[in-house]
Amino acid sequence: MAASKQTRYVDVSNPSLAVECPRCGLMTARFVDLCRNCGYKLWPSSVMASAAFRAWRAPDPERRSEVSRFDMDYPVHIDNTIDYVARAHELGIHLSPPSNWPFVICFGLLFLSLAAIPFAATARIVLAVIGGLIFLGGVVGWVVIEDTRMFPSDSPQQEIHH
Ligand SMILES: [Zn+2]
Repeated sequence: MAASKQTRYVDVSNPSLAVECPRCGLMTARFVDLCRNCGYKLWPSSVMASAAFRAWRAPDPERRSEVSRFDMDYPVHIDNTIDYVARAHELGIHLSPPSNWPFVICFGLLFLSLAAIPFAATARIVLAVIGGLIFLGGVVGWVVIEDTRMFPSDSPQQEIHH
């Protein structure tokens, strides 16, 4: 049979990515031209195998577009997202809520550290006061205001013992 440039017939209804090698009998990638185990030529050329893969992928693009022709299995999607807030509540761990206040605290620390540079005394005092106020504001906002809003019923809940 003369080598044709046409795509060799491929059974697109078969969703399998692996095929049994006719020579060694082991499973190998269906759209790679050579058997991975014994090197048996499954396709006349790599180009043809690739063309067959593209033809096979067309009828079911949603599922088949995410595989490579070198794969033997479809990727497994595992939903391993964890709700850490719910998990911490379950375990009784006090988790600080996500907050922007640490940025304020760091901003205050910037002025406080500038006050540590030996400038003129008044400039240092002004910097220290500004830094101290921003820093304390950040601490109060984070620990007192936001945290108690997040966990309002930490203490009043009392357990009843029989
Ligand atoms: Zn083989």
